[in-house]
Amino acid sequence: MNYSGFKVIKEALTGHRGWGPAWRDAAPQAEYDYVIIGGGGHGLATAYYLAREFRQSRIAVLEKGWIGGGNVGRNTTIIRSNYLLDGNEPFYEFSLKLWEGLEQELNYNAMVSQRGILNLIHSDAQRDAFIRRGNAMILNGADAELLSTTQIRDRYPFLNVNNARFPIKGGLAQHRGGTVRHDAVAWGYARAADQRGVDIIQNCEVTGFRIENGTCTGVETARGFIGAKKVAACVAGSSSRLMHKAGMRLPIESHVLQAFVSEGLKPVLPGVITFGAGHFYCSQSDKGGLVFGGDIDGYNSYAQRGNLPVVEDVCEGGMAIFPMLGRARLLRSWGGIMDMSMDGSPIIDRTHIDGLYFNGGWCYGGFKATPASGFAYAHLLATDTPHETATAYRFDRFERGRMIDEKGMGNQPNLH
Ligand SMILES: Cc1cc2nc3c(=O)[nH]c(=O)nc-3n(C[C@H](O)[C@H](O)[C@H](O)COP(=O)(O)OP(=O)(O)OC[C@H]3O[C@@H](n4cnc5c(N)ncnc54)[C@H](O)[C@@H]3O)c2cc1C
Repeated sequence: MNYSGFKVIKEALTGHRGWGPAWRDAAPQAEYDYVIIGGGGHGLATAYYLAREFRQSRIAVLEKGWIGGGNVGRNTTIIRSNYLLDGNEPFYEFSLKLWEGLEQELNYNAMVSQRGILNLIHSDAQRDAFIRRGNAMILNGADAELLSTTQIRDRYPFLNVNNARFPIKGGLAQHRGGTVRHDAVAWGYARAADQRGVDIIQNCEVTGFRIENGTCTGVETARGFIGAKKVAACVAGSSSRLMHKAGMRLPIESHVLQAFVSEGLKPVLPGVITFGAGHFYCSQSDKGGLVFGGDIDGYNSYAQRGNLPVVEDVCEGGMAIFPMLGRARLLRSWGGIMDMSMDGSPIIDRTHIDGLYFNGGWCYGGFKATPASGFAYAHLLATDTPHETATAYRFDRFERGRMIDEKGMGNQPNLH
């Protein structure tokens, strides 16, 4: 079924009885060419690009719960490509370009909204650092603009520019950044992958790997053994636990990150803003809720719920630049499990076990990376060579000391 304006009107007039399921409820087959573990954004995008871009077939996505139940449906929906380092910026810019054509390509309304992102500046040193980052972005073909305090006051009248503990001294804007309806991304990729013959198998937890003479030949699952020529792990916050079953210890820790949504308000924030003197980011959803978040909880956990000290810290960050937030009522909050790598950057690589591949360590940046991650992982799986934008995302960088440390924090996953 193709979605169109005509179809929406027809269904609206006939009681919405003509919509079919968006993807099949596939039963597992005995063997596939590719088994992708994890039905999050990255796993589904990988399956889609494998089928569409690399013309591969006999592909299954195994999801222990339901599509969209992980971080792809829990994040604060921000997309951007405002990175500094060579290892990262081309990759995230490639991702932003894929976002720009995604809805037409998938025939799915993922509510890609390039409403812009603004990183606020609060000191002269920070301005220098942001100018450097903006120049790196422009050199890599991305857009960046340094805004003055006056320009910011005109565009964001609710920000506390002068009368604050950390006065706003400017900002680095990326006008092509913005937000995307998070779970619609999972649904859009799932539907498009299914249309190309991918089996999406929910309620199918992978419980172990079958490894014979150094080669992975398939996976043990809650629904029995499934053989595969290539097995691709892609389980975000569960990476360490899953790869432990293959005897691997990863340079990754799992932490909780919380998200918050206020009651619906009239339009107050035209784009995404980030506080530069603490960790706070906020946008306004199309329904009017302020969607915001901050730091991870800072201790290792596999829980999908957070604790109160971080709630207080996030609200302090918000109040520092945006005092009207204190008058809004909080409607919802939740947590997701973040796979924090040692340098804050991801891994897309083969493992030392033949036929077993790994994608993870996405930290705060995984949602915006979804299209490029899927594309690059599909490239690696289909050709056994890394995609040109992902050549730095290898395991051996931790051995060779070639970290991609955007924040310069060292091997402190809780600080990236
Ligand atoms: C609160 C919060 C806010 C965030 N905000 C942003 C943001 O604004 N911008 C941004 O770029 N990123 C953001 N992120 C990060 C981003 O959401 C993640 O990095 C990204 O979604 C991870 O990739 P994924 O979508 O594939 O993960 P997931 O959706 O978590 O997919 C992994 C899947 O693997 C499944 N799985 C796990 N173990 C197994 C197993 N053994 N067998 C089968 N399946 C298994 C899980 O059930 C899950 O569905 C945020 C994260 C959180 C938690």
